[in-house]
Amino acid sequence: MPFIAVSSIISGVATDSQPVMIDVAVVGGGAAGLASAIFTARRAPQAKIVVLDGATKIGAKILIAGGGRCNVTNQEVGAMDYCGGIPTFIKRVLGKFSVENTIAFFREIGVDLKVEEHGKLFPTTNRARTVLDALLMEARRCGVSIRCGQRVTSVQPCDGGFQIQTSDETLYARKVVLAAGGRAMPKTGSDGSGYELAARLGHALVPVTPALVPLCLNGEFHTPLSGIAHDVEIMVQVDGVKPVRIHGALLWTHFGVSGPVVLDASRHWHRARLDNRAVGMTMNILPGKDFSAIERLLLDLAAEKPKSSLKNVLPRLLPARVAEAILHELLIESDLVMSHLPKDVRRKLVHALSAWPLPVRDSRGYAHAEVTAGGVPLSEIQPKTMASRKCPGLFLIGEILDVDGRIGGFNFQWAWSTAYVASAGLTS
Ligand SMILES: Cc1cc2nc3c(=O)[nH]c(=O)nc-3n(C[C@H](O)[C@H](O)[C@H](O)COP(=O)(O)OP(=O)(O)OC[C@H]3O[C@@H](n4cnc5c(N)ncnc54)[C@H](O)[C@@H]3O)c2cc1C
Repeated sequence: MPFIAVSSIISGVATDSQPVMIDVAVVGGGAAGLASAIFTARRAPQAKIVVLDGATKIGAKILIAGGGRCNVTNQEVGAMDYCGGIPTFIKRVLGKFSVENTIAFFREIGVDLKVEEHGKLFPTTNRARTVLDALLMEARRCGVSIRCGQRVTSVQPCDGGFQIQTSDETLYARKVVLAAGGRAMPKTGSDGSGYELAARLGHALVPVTPALVPLCLNGEFHTPLSGIAHDVEIMVQVDGVKPVRIHGALLWTHFGVSGPVVLDASRHWHRARLDNRAVGMTMNILPGKDFSAIERLLLDLAAEKPKSSLKNVLPRLLPARVAEAILHELLIESDLVMSHLPKDVRRKLVHALSAWPLPVRDSRGYAHAEVTAGGVPLSEIQPKTMASRKCPGLFLIGEILDVDGRIGGFNFQWAWSTAYVASAGLTS
């Protein structure tokens, strides 16, 4: 056990007469920070552990996650559910603290999880508050000190440990965990300041962009469709890169598009723009069916309902208002009966249904993003311990790293897993 009990330590706060040393200072009390404090305290019950968070109320992101229900993890999590980073590193970390470990941990602290659609796990209470309260109670039980309203403005190596300056105090810690998150939804407290702290301690930064963020479209096509949701397959075509296909629910909104499939596609759009690559996005409105399958479908419908009009037949395949808008945009008469559909018109329609363009203008930015892509490169972190390769005594976990998960509980799993791995490093 490397921690030395310092009998004079009471608060861990430096005064003029008595600078005191805490064992572990965790910068950021989000999912990763709280979990790492708990796991470390469980391994080293004598250790003095302090969580410092700039927000006045802790856990804002946990509370809003998963529509207020907190999608804690997913039934199946693997390296392929993440972008950025290094797949073997991610796999190794996930292997050290798996989904089963997450379920068991939450059960231990009184949170039972249930599986929902797409393997997502939520608390049985359907309340994110249950998750946050359980984490805070466990942290307290383990003797972790949580200090809100303490924005960390600098972390500097000092006498084999660190001097930490917050908005109103100076602390000294033997080890520091940077768990300050990224830049997504800065009103929750994650304003990107963690990157600056990491940079000043010698770390590089893979340029950041919003991810899991709704997209704004050019034109007016989307406006009257606001509120309609349906399944699609989005294809993101980036110049010089293999196209990415993502299947899921799309939601039309007053500004453009949202919904899980759009959120997942957004990071690819942003990364392409960051790299100055041309990027286009289309959607197949009948996912799983290619051009010829859709054409076959229309021919079958024409044979089955020769006297029905397009406007009466298409709602069998897609929402009526979307069908109407597409016909209008293509200048195809919606009263046209199926038996009189000329080949060129049918083909124009099939092309539209299989590859409708989504003219993305921009995303809604960090203010509406669920995560940040980019961050501190994994090549600068030791996968066994989450320790920095640049600064001895420093550990980095959670979203501050260059890893972003797709929608479905993967980002929290990354937070729990990295937190657990760091606790081993912090106590070895
Ligand atoms: C609306 C929304 C919904 C989401 N839903 C889900 C979901 O259901 N499932 C899922 O897996 N993921 C979800 N996510 C993503 C998930 O919340 C994050 O990936 C995860 O919270 C990251 O955890 P973290 O601890 O690394 O960072 P954060 O949760 O961002 O925590 C960082 C903490 O550090 C503090 N901080 C930052 N800078 C400083 C500083 N200089 N000094 C002191 N404190 C500082 C912040 O106040 C914050 O409390 C959602 C995100 C959003 C925005």
